[in-house]
Amino acid sequence: MRRPIIAGNWKMFKTRPETSAFFTALIPLVRDVQHCDIVVAPPFTALSTAVDQTEGTRVAISAQNVHWEDQGAFTGEVSVRMLSDAGCTYVIVGHSERRQYFGETDDWVEKKTRAVVKGGLKAIVCVGETLSERDAGQALDVVRRQVRSGLGRLTGPDLSHIIVAYEPVWAIGTGRTATPEIAAEMHAEIRKTFAEIYKAAAADALRILYGGSVKPDNISTLMKKEDIDGALVGGASLDPASFAAIIKYI
Ligand code: PEP
Repeated sequence: MRRPIIAGNWKMFKTRPETSAFFTALIPLVRDVQHCDIVVAPPFTALSTAVDQTEGTRVAISAQNVHWEDQGAFTGEVSVRMLSDAGCTYVIVGHSERRQYFGETDDWVEKKTRAVVKGGLKAIVCVGETLSERDAGQALDVVRRQVRSGLGRLTGPDLSHIIVAYEPVWAIGTGRTATPEIAAEMHAEIRKTFAEIYKAAAADALRILYGGSVKPDNISTLMKKEDIDGALVGGASLDPASFAAIIKYI
């Protein structure tokens, strides 16, 4: 049985006071939740506030990006060691916005993922096709390539520190969710690709999240699909009531 994960990606939203207010509202709403892991990824500046506010709760804190080097002359970057020191336990790697606006490549995704695993954190690695790639019938090929070149040279044990998020770019922030059937087809394909590279048991244990306009009213249908093990939620994770409703999808 794969344990579900509901993760919120705040992107470039929320100051420290807004972060405090969010957790003050969220924590009582999810205090009794047992059925899934809960992760929130605030911006770097709010990480320590989020870590302090969630201490002793079931909510884990994630960063949204990382550099693969441990330290050095890399202005504006943050290392795994620094994130770990700040109290993070997860890092999002290869989000489509980073691929699209900041030139993140499959090669960087691999370096970052390796660094995250080596540093003892968990990587939530994002893959997904654009609308033109889907319209051209290339969606499966694109995602298979992202998996093979970004994640194909890890070790089997590394895989237990990785969570994959399938996020079709055309569904992110657009209000256009992939149908549960489209998502399920891609999740099964991702798992199959991992099974071709690693042992079947490792591929079977891998948690694959869906991301793209997940809301309280579509989460439960998505979660009914066998290969969907949770969600990476953008916009709807900014509001404590809607994020709590997604967490309580059962
Ligand atoms: C995301 O940013 O990872 C995301 C899925 O955003 P949204 O839920 O707003 O589509």
